Amino acid sequence: MRILVGMTLIAMTTAAAASGPAAATERREHGAHRHGHATLQAALDGGQLEIAVEAPGMDIVGFEHAPGDDAQKAKIAAALRRLGDAGAMFDLPEAAGCALTEAEAEQEALADAHGQKADAADHTAFHAHYGWTCAKPEALQTIRVRYFEHFPGIAEIDAAVIGPSGQTAQELTPQSPQLQF
Ligand SMILES: [Zn+2]
Repeated sequence: MRILVGMTLIAMTTAAAASGPAAATERREHGAHRHGHATLQAALDGGQLEIAVEAPGMDIVGFEHAPGDDAQKAKIAAALRRLGDAGAMFDLPEAAGCALTEAEAEQEALADAHGQKADAADHTAFHAHYGWTCAKPEALQTIRVRYFEHFPGIAEIDAAVIGPSGQTAQELTPQSPQLQF
């Protein structure tokens, strides 16, 4: 998990350090916070599988402002519970014999989204981290990502995958939700 968290922090630090119109454009291209676009990082190292996902609050609960009433608070709590349910979010091949070791989800306000610090408080993101130990990692060739089924606001997931065959960038969509190792 430490590797994945580190990658996320580096990406966010780079975005925050940049300034000016060019930097704003770059942020959008990198998908740091684009509504409809989530990012995913997956790493398979020996039998250890780790996945981290970040998605805009808009795609998860339909709003990004602070919850204004109990219904909105409940919606956020329900989303966090669902995100933390690794079995609902991913289909792993049974043959790989993976056992869940970690699953957590959190919501955070973004300090600098869309290149406009003035409305920073209006943007939030959901983060989720998952870890598994797999008895037969060689059987782990694809993982079906089910975020699209639970959160229709997500149109695309930009995935960075590190596995036995190296590092690849993959684009997942509702029509093509399979992560490849
Ligand atoms: Zn936003």
